[in-house]
Amino acid sequence: MKKILLVLAAGLLACCSAMAQRLPGGASPDHYSLAVNINFANNTFDGDESIDLKLSQSTNTITLNAVEIDFHTVTATAGGQTQTAKVSLDEKNETATFTFGNQLPSGPATLNIKYTGHLNDKLRGFYLSTYKGKKYVVSQMESTDARVAFPCFDEPSYKATFDLTATIDKGDTAISNGEIVSDTPAPGDKHTIKFATSPKMSSYLVALTVGDWKCVSDHTDGVKVSVCTVPGKENLTAFPLAASKAFLHYYDSYYGIKYPLPKLDNIAVPDFQAGAMENWGAIIYRETALLIDDKTASVDAKQGVAETIAHEMAHQWFGDLVTMAWWDDIWLNEGFATWMTPHPIANWKPEWMEGQQTVSQIDRSMAGDSVMNTRPIHQKAETRAEIEQLFDGIAYGKSASVLHMLESYLGPATFRSGVNLYLKEHAYGNATAADFWGAMARASKKPVDEIMPTFVLQPGVPYVGVAAKCEGGNTTLKLSQQRYFDTPSAFSQPDQQIWQIPVCAKGINGTSAGNQQCFLLTQREQQFTLKGCSKFVFPDSSAMGYYRFDYDSAALHQLGNAVDTALTPEERIALMGNEWALMRVDKHSVGDYLALGAQLKNTPGSALLDSFGERLTEINDHLVTDADRPAFQAWLRTQFSPVLQQLGYNGKPSDTPEQKQKRALLFEGLGIMGDDPQVIAQARTMVQEYMKDPSSVDGTMAHAVIAVAARHGDAQLYNQFKEQMQKASSPEQYYGYFYALSQFPQPDLTKETLDSILTPAVRGQDLYIVIPLLRHPTSQDMTWSFMQTHFDDLMKKTGGGLGGVGVFLYGAQSFCDAQKAAEVQQFFQQHPFPGTERNQKQAIESINNCVQLRDQQQGPLSAWLKTQGGVTSASNSGTTMTAGTTR
Ligand SMILES: [Zn+2]
Repeated sequence: MKKILLVLAAGLLACCSAMAQRLPGGASPDHYSLAVNINFANNTFDGDESIDLKLSQSTNTITLNAVEIDFHTVTATAGGQTQTAKVSLDEKNETATFTFGNQLPSGPATLNIKYTGHLNDKLRGFYLSTYKGKKYVVSQMESTDARVAFPCFDEPSYKATFDLTATIDKGDTAISNGEIVSDTPAPGDKHTIKFATSPKMSSYLVALTVGDWKCVSDHTDGVKVSVCTVPGKENLTAFPLAASKAFLHYYDSYYGIKYPLPKLDNIAVPDFQAGAMENWGAIIYRETALLIDDKTASVDAKQGVAETIAHEMAHQWFGDLVTMAWWDDIWLNEGFATWMTPHPIANWKPEWMEGQQTVSQIDRSMAGDSVMNTRPIHQKAETRAEIEQLFDGIAYGKSASVLHMLESYLGPATFRSGVNLYLKEHAYGNATAADFWGAMARASKKPVDEIMPTFVLQPGVPYVGVAAKCEGGNTTLKLSQQRYFDTPSAFSQPDQQIWQIPVCAKGINGTSAGNQQCFLLTQREQQFTLKGCSKFVFPDSSAMGYYRFDYDSAALHQLGNAVDTALTPEERIALMGNEWALMRVDKHSVGDYLALGAQLKNTPGSALLDSFGERLTEINDHLVTDADRPAFQAWLRTQFSPVLQQLGYNGKPSDTPEQKQKRALLFEGLGIMGDDPQVIAQARTMVQEYMKDPSSVDGTMAHAVIAVAARHGDAQLYNQFKEQMQKASSPEQYYGYFYALSQFPQPDLTKETLDSILTPAVRGQDLYIVIPLLRHPTSQDMTWSFMQTHFDDLMKKTGGGLGGVGVFLYGAQSFCDAQKAAEVQQFFQQHPFPGTERNQKQAIESINNCVQLRDQQQGPLSAWLKTQGGVTSASNSGTTMTAGTTR
């Protein structure tokens, strides 16, 4: 699955409070035949299901998973005898037990189940989606919702083959895992579509969508690849189709195992809770994650769509072909799909510099993993809520980061041979974490089975202390380790954790860097020899380390601008992330961080500027006082206006993706944080031109223009945006205006936006607009109060359960106020959600840590800004070039 906000640990899937207790065993399915007859008139479907299974011993009961299913008749045929079962339901455990009068002998048996299911509005199981008044059936089974669609052994290790048949209205078609093998008339003006048998797979991968889908197809490597949508959006399929073809070809080659189905469908549906779902052969996406206008789309939207497709297609092997034995190892699915994502994209679009995105992602993962209430990658989970919560930044980002570090340490070719071995050994089966590092250790002949458990079974981020000394022509490196926490009080506490950390370092003299050497730090303190002597040792060469590090900042400072050539752009991104981490624990100051950012701001690629911008927003929101704001804004303008001036306000056809992205980042930052009058005036003009003719503004720039215009806009512009949403020609355009509604600072407009959330104008899947509303100081209080008042309505709108709670849990992290921490705590006491306790603690910890950071850095920031002097008048912005600030 691909989450909209990975940190939304409580999941974007609907849920309920029931426990997902494991099945008792004794029966295991080999094959399902499932025929459903869709009745849109009453939003139900009739199911006729046969399950061929094996009984390990004779028994008179069989228990499987089922919930919200109305059973009609259940029979079992075994040993030449057919018996009818008595059905008893266990709602709490989501199971049904079939009891038979006579013992069923051990060996093969066939269950036949006739039942009625419900096309629900909770975005799970087989559910109802609508577009322009037309009804669609969409499916979403992961993690534990196949049981809502059909009775089944709904655990990942019960793999079986599936034959699906759908009887549907004339004019509709259906898409499932297998290709269509027959389409025949059925009674009542309907027709019956039969699909080919699926590969042996877990129940959570079953897919079925019904509607008037329009598909655009092409072939690659002998596989028919399609992009499907509701009618009228076929013009948005060229880009995703090209990406799918490129990635399938790449994966066929990389994995050494060819994609096993004759077709791969990508389907964009109007209502979807997650970003996308990797059903084997039938990947389902929310529209904005797949459909894109190739001509007008922003670089960011293209990258986002490519990343989602690459992630879901990586799952066709990692997850679909080889599946984790239980949800506690979900990282074997999500970590691998996330790790794999940049590989085919870098091959397809090198100009996007995906490697830089990877380093930013490693930094973000470490930031999220630096709290006390984090969790290990491998995490016990039994209940439905506990399982849903595992789809978080640890399963995706941290797991992927650790894999990137391992790949860098072993070398790409060796790592790949380990991956191939792991996939071959467990194809069409299940695997555990130990299976993975065992295969990797055998392939690499390195102690991967000792390194990985220290990162997978222990929580948190290591911090590597570094002391370098020139002795006898070589550098003696004394390395030490402890756990990193993002507050000084927690960081200074002694801890017992020891990791086996591949530390890669390089020495730097002037503009030249020595060769990288990697060491395995396995003790609390250890000494190594780095060849040659140098002025500065960079302890994260290649920027793939999953650790924070100490470094000699005086020596780095002495290198001056030589850093620009001695460190790669990726290493500079890692250095910036690390500088922020050192500031959090009071080893460096926020002034050090700002000065380093100013020095490195012209780094090639946009990723450094992007993550710097995120941190500047944090500084602006939480550390800058009203009294200091003019000085902070002046500093921003002095640093960044000249860079924007050089790029110009509007794009040229010859611009690289990097230039487009940098321009947009600078424009938005200067317009929103810097209050740059020229930028604001430009945004007001450009937004009117853009609304008249979307081709008049470069697609990547359009978002920045809309956001800045909104932040400085009025009710008239707000209403114009609402009109534009109705005319939008792509999901990107629609959501560009939709999310900009959250930027208007006027309280009455905030109220209008909030009120609209509860109307049919806003889909349940789009509730995330409250997140930016909670972030901005002008709308924060009203939004929080609205969310508490309308708690029940919001929960209902998201399908009930964890989907809605996730918005609360994530949104609460925007606060930086002790009073709000108390309110959030009280809120969760009043609305307890079993299974989300860790996330509640994380939200409160995050607020308290922000308060600590403000207490610690607000004064130093104020003092540092006074030393910057320079330009204080907005009228000078854009005319003064300044060199990188010294530090
Ligand atoms: Zn995924």
